[in-house]
Amino acid sequence: MSIASGLVLTEPRSLERRSFDLPEVDADDGLLRVEACGLCGTDHEQYTGHITNRHAFIPGHEVVGVVEELGDAAAERWGVSAGQRVAVEVFLSCRNCDQCRAGLYRRCERNGLATMVGFTDADTPPGLGGGYASHLYLRPDSMLMAVPDELDPVTATLFNPLGAGIRWAVEIPDTQPGDVVAILGPGVRGLCAAAAAKEAGAGFVMITGLGERDTERLALAPAFGADLAVDVSTDDPNRALRDAAGAKADVVIDVTAKAPAALAQAVQLARPGGTIVLAGTRGSPETPGFDPDHIVYKELRIFGALGVDVTAYRKALDLLVSGRYPFTDLPRQVADFDSLEPLIQTLAGERPGTPPVHGVFAPGSADS
Ligand SMILES: [Zn+2]
Ligand SMILES: [Zn+2]
Repeated sequence: MSIASGLVLTEPRSLERRSFDLPEVDADDGLLRVEACGLCGTDHEQYTGHITNRHAFIPGHEVVGVVEELGDAAAERWGVSAGQRVAVEVFLSCRNCDQCRAGLYRRCERNGLATMVGFTDADTPPGLGGGYASHLYLRPDSMLMAVPDELDPVTATLFNPLGAGIRWAVEIPDTQPGDVVAILGPGVRGLCAAAAAKEAGAGFVMITGLGERDTERLALAPAFGADLAVDVSTDDPNRALRDAAGAKADVVIDVTAKAPAALAQAVQLARPGGTIVLAGTRGSPETPGFDPDHIVYKELRIFGALGVDVTAYRKALDLLVSGRYPFTDLPRQVADFDSLEPLIQTLAGERPGTPPVHGVFAPGSADS
C-alpha cells in the first residue's frame, strides 16, 4: 500500500509529521495529489489555538491539486476527470437537502463544520482531510472547480481570497459601476477586494492600512485597482477620500483583522444610505470611537460576510486567468513540509519578520 504524508495539528502549536496509508478509491470518492495550499488568518488561529478543534487534524483549506484517482460516480457528480487540476471548495454539499437545493450548501444538513476541508479528525481513516499533506481524500460530497491549464497551482490558490473579494466587495453590497468603494485592510483579501471592485466598474477605490507592517501592501495596491492607498497611522482616511474622490463611500468593506477601530472608521467613511460589509473579525467586543447613532442618522446598511461560494470561486479563477492584475507576482513565501511551521509562526506574529502578503504550502517545493 502506498504512503501519504501530512502535518497533523495534535494540539495548539504542535504540528507533527505523520504517514498515512493511501485510501482505496471506490465509485463515489477520490484522491487528490496536493500541489499547493494557500494560508490565511484561519491557519495561524488554528495553530495558536484561537480556533479550537476537538480532535487532531490536518489543517489547510485553500487547496489546489491534481485528481489522482476517482470513481465513475464521483467523476460524473464532480464534473472532473483523473489528471485534471482542480481547486477544492472548503465546504461540502450533499446536493440534495433543502439548504443545498436553495444554494445555501454551507448549511448542508449532513456536512457543515463536521466535514470541512482542513478540519476533520486525522485519526479517523483515511484521515487525509486537509491541505498540509501530500494527498487529500475527496469525500463523495466534495465540490471541485476545474483550474485552467495556464494557471500555476500556487497562484491558483488565490481562488479562495479572490472569491471572497468578489463576494464581499461586489455581490453582497451590490456594487455598481461608478461607485466609490473604501476597503479597510490591505492584506491579500483587501487587495483581492480592490481588484474585484475595480472589475465591477467602481469609479474610485480607496484602501487603508495601519503603520509599517502595511507599507509594502499599500504600495502594491494601485496595481490591484486602488486609486488611493492611505496609512491611517499618519493620514485621516475621511479627509483623504474627500480630497481625492470628492465624496464619501457608497460601499465600505472591512477586511481588517484584530483592528478594533475599523468599525468606527467604516461608519465615518460611508455616505448616507451607504453599505458596509463586515468581513474581518475583531477578536474582541471593543469598538473604540464607534457611535451607533450614526447608523440611524445615515440609514446605513450593514452586512456580515463569512464565507464564499462556488459561483464566486469560479469568477475568481476566470479573473486570475485574465492576467489583468499581477496576482502571480504577489510577494509570497512558499513553504514545504519542513518550513511550514516557521512560516505560520511569522504569520501569527510570534516570530520576528514581516509576514509575506501571500503564504503558501507546497509539498513539492524546497525553496524556502
Ligand atoms: Zn483561508
Ligand atoms: Zn445538503
